[in-house]
Amino acid sequence: MAQVIHGTTIITADDESRVLFDAAIAIDGGRIAAIGPDAEILPRFPQAERIDGRWRAVMPGFANTHTHLSLTIARGIFEDLSPPHRPPFCAGISPIPTPELSREEMAVMVQLGALEAIRSGTTALLEDGKDIADYAPWLAATGIRLLLAERAWDRADSNVGDPGPFRPSEAIAEDSLERIERLHTAWNGQHDGRIRTGMAPWAPDMCTPGLLHRLQDQRQRLSIPCTIHLNQVWGEIAAVQAHRGMRPTEYLAAEGFLHPGMIAAHCRCMVHEEERLLGRARVNVAFNAAIAARRGLSPRISVLEAEGCNIAMGTDNMAEDMVEVMRTGLFMERIRREDGRTPMPEEALRWATRNGYAAMGVPDGGWLALGNRADLVLIRTDRAHLVPMTRPLSSFVHQGQASDVDSVMVDGHWIMRDGVVRTMDEPTIIREADRIARRAWNRLFTERPETRLLGGVAPPA
Ligand SMILES: [Zn+2]
Repeated sequence: MAQVIHGTTIITADDESRVLFDAAIAIDGGRIAAIGPDAEILPRFPQAERIDGRWRAVMPGFANTHTHLSLTIARGIFEDLSPPHRPPFCAGISPIPTPELSREEMAVMVQLGALEAIRSGTTALLEDGKDIADYAPWLAATGIRLLLAERAWDRADSNVGDPGPFRPSEAIAEDSLERIERLHTAWNGQHDGRIRTGMAPWAPDMCTPGLLHRLQDQRQRLSIPCTIHLNQVWGEIAAVQAHRGMRPTEYLAAEGFLHPGMIAAHCRCMVHEEERLLGRARVNVAFNAAIAARRGLSPRISVLEAEGCNIAMGTDNMAEDMVEVMRTGLFMERIRREDGRTPMPEEALRWATRNGYAAMGVPDGGWLALGNRADLVLIRTDRAHLVPMTRPLSSFVHQGQASDVDSVMVDGHWIMRDGVVRTMDEPTIIREADRIARRAWNRLFTERPETRLLGGVAPPA
């Protein structure tokens, strides 16, 4: 049955960044069947379910182009243990590991992340992880549009940002290629194409040239997207220079691994030549603004964009709030450019929505126009921090909160409606996630006291 949201404000994110007032949007068969003035649209859909859109605004949903949902386990810990900017470098994004979790516990942390994603208006999400098949059923059930990117590497006993010796492992390479293949066979195209799979070579300092070449062949054969962590931390730069005698982006370019459509996450710690290489290859950049700010690092977004990159956004670790990411991105770029007028909110919204969809290979999503996919959100505008709604797009980018998101639709299905997530048991997941995480961290800190680097840790629940 068709649905019409009427009497509302529509933030389209189209080519002209148009905002429509006293407008309506009709949805039928998972697509936008009409969009325009109330008086024109309503008579055309007399049988449709009518949804009153007063004191609401309709926006495209967000595309989170880089995240690791299970790392919600590290919330409150890893934000404050960023890798050093100068030697001595440590392997990994934190000096301590995450605690061991069972498959079921991992699934709860993943669902927790998905809940936060939906509540912040996320309709499309790229999950980068290992053994995604273990939690894919739970993730698929959330109703979010998914790109599941299985991780690949072939460096033994190490982690990103380690300039120590590179010990290659054929066994890890084989296992990586097999996991990508198996996930693809089981999940690609499921749920009417809402779920797709891809590959995620971990980072340039975790892959040999041989593995990169094999991944390139596999990517072309399966016709799947590819994402990679690139120029994430200074330790990675030091590592690739130590192992390959060049910088990370130069290494990928030299191996012919950069290609249009690749999603490169982070792209910080770069020299101009690397930004030029990325732009020339028409690479998508996942600008993970909130984690970048927490790390004290910033990509040069205006430069990457000018060189030809498509700028998308992501949350990365410990948080899934795309409203915060969008605003932090705008703030960071204004500070870096020393310019209080650019980027404009229209641009930040495009990064977080339409550009992300394009990066994920869905050019007809992330913006509201006739025939596009019905992936959208309704936000409440009867809020003290949003009124007056004189310029709604600007108000939401500058002042909006995830809690303003009231309803979320993917492929024409409501996965959240009137403030209630319909695809998960939210109270149970929240309770369980808190219990699992506190118990797991306390266990780790007891068994390995040297990992207790921070104070104020809650006891097991
Ligand atoms: Zn990441």
